[in-house]
Amino acid sequence: MAPFDLIIFGGTGDLALRKLLPALFHRYVDGQIVAGTRLYGLARDSQDDGAYRARVREALQKSLADDPRAPTALEPFLDLLHYRRIDLNADAGWAELATELTDPQRVDSERVRVFYLAVGPDLFGSVGARLQAHGLTGETTRVVVEKPIGHDGASAAAINDALGHVFAESQIYRIDHYLGKETVQNLTALRFGNALFEPLWKAEHIDHVQITVAETVGLERRASYYDKSGALRDMVQNHLLQLLCLVAMEPPSSLAADAIRDEKLKVLRALRPIENGATSQLTVRGQYRAGAVEGRPVPGYLDELGRDDSRTETFVALKAEVRNWRWAGVPFYLRTGKRLAERMSEIVVTFRQVPHSIFGELAEPIAPNQLVIRLQPDEGVKLWLMNKVPGPGGLRLRRVPMDLSFAETFGGRQPEAYERLLMDVVRGNAMLFMRRDEVEAAWDWIDPIRNAWQASSDAPKPYTAGSWGPSAAVALIERDGRTWHEDAG
Ligand code: NAP
Repeated sequence: MAPFDLIIFGGTGDLALRKLLPALFHRYVDGQIVAGTRLYGLARDSQDDGAYRARVREALQKSLADDPRAPTALEPFLDLLHYRRIDLNADAGWAELATELTDPQRVDSERVRVFYLAVGPDLFGSVGARLQAHGLTGETTRVVVEKPIGHDGASAAAINDALGHVFAESQIYRIDHYLGKETVQNLTALRFGNALFEPLWKAEHIDHVQITVAETVGLERRASYYDKSGALRDMVQNHLLQLLCLVAMEPPSSLAADAIRDEKLKVLRALRPIENGATSQLTVRGQYRAGAVEGRPVPGYLDELGRDDSRTETFVALKAEVRNWRWAGVPFYLRTGKRLAERMSEIVVTFRQVPHSIFGELAEPIAPNQLVIRLQPDEGVKLWLMNKVPGPGGLRLRRVPMDLSFAETFGGRQPEAYERLLMDVVRGNAMLFMRRDEVEAAWDWIDPIRNAWQASSDAPKPYTAGSWGPSAAVALIERDGRTWHEDAG
């Protein structure tokens, strides 16, 4: 890849140090980032390049263990890195930054320039205006923004307006790191690179779909943000709905970014609205109480928060429906939560039962086929099939998985989502990023749920930390004669 400039606003923050810089380092180790590239961290601290590099060196320690080639690459990588002090709300430092980034002695006019806004969305407008005032928004500029893009439809539209005032939509990369995960991309490969699945990928053959994103962590350092957000906004509006879109979308005509985003948008617009009367039947929200996770006692949400009056949900389960020809009558059950029994994200597609069993009483009941796409941990795909148990004794059947573990099949280290996504921005490939209309359509579906919860006098249902959420979430799916998927092998 030709040398480029990447400027991280919020270069000393958690996201930059824990995710972005390690991802860039791995791309450097693999030779994708070449000499002449300039990486900048920007924040309000006073420090020079040397002090910043020392901080990043420390942050990269874990990455060094991941790859035997990494230790020798560390110092040359750090040489690409610079620190500049800038307060995004003040005028000082911008002119110098602009001179440095546009200096014709050092960069040609074609050089790709990426501004990564690893700061809160309240600063997006101010950054955009200053970049524009200093002539830094030209055609080779791209800007990356992180979630949360708003806390409802109106605030998302305001953020999008502020960005759209300065940048063309094609310059804006709205990141959802779930889309950069290898298994999520593999979902597209599985569906459209094999003739096997697509003919079956419809209501006629699929009974239901489950999407689970379970975390074991609690609030960590995000208490004030999380308590204002809750699981519906923090996880469902973006990650879970994006996964649902990839499962449910029609085959795009190509991998062109807009071909895929057009199809995802149609799915979001086809979601049946969950409004007032339906919220209590189709959604469950929960909040964890003290319990034990992975053998360790942990406090409840309110104790972690240090307040006893929060009604913020740390768990959501809901039943969604895509109103179109392909999916009519097929429920999509989504659930996500904090302090659950294990850290696990997966998509489970359950096919319909065989129409008639010829095996009679000898066999255990025939279980429907299931395609399980595991996003984390142990990324991989399992296809559950009925098989004959070997040996004499009649035709006995058992449900067994065809198991494709990514680590075993492909070996080596699995790249982190940000590695792929950052390089896609530099390459100008927006396929895995969300377009404005997608973000706003997702909020249009989420807002009525949120509003109905707020208007209700019910509090979130309590659940014990280390469990799979409130019992009402089990009832939500069992009412329909189905159960949440549990990996049995
Ligand atoms: P953080 O740890 O609080 O870091 C914020 C960064 O912004 C710091 O470098 C801070 O440095 C800088 N900053 C704040 N105000 C500034 C100003 N006025 N001028 C210049 N720099 C300023 O936050 P984070 O966790 O990295 O998250 C950053 C953004 O990404 C947030 O919007 C968050 O919601 C989003 N996000 C984070 C993660 C994650 O894993 N951390 C994941 C998804 C999305 P100084 O205070 O020293 O200036």
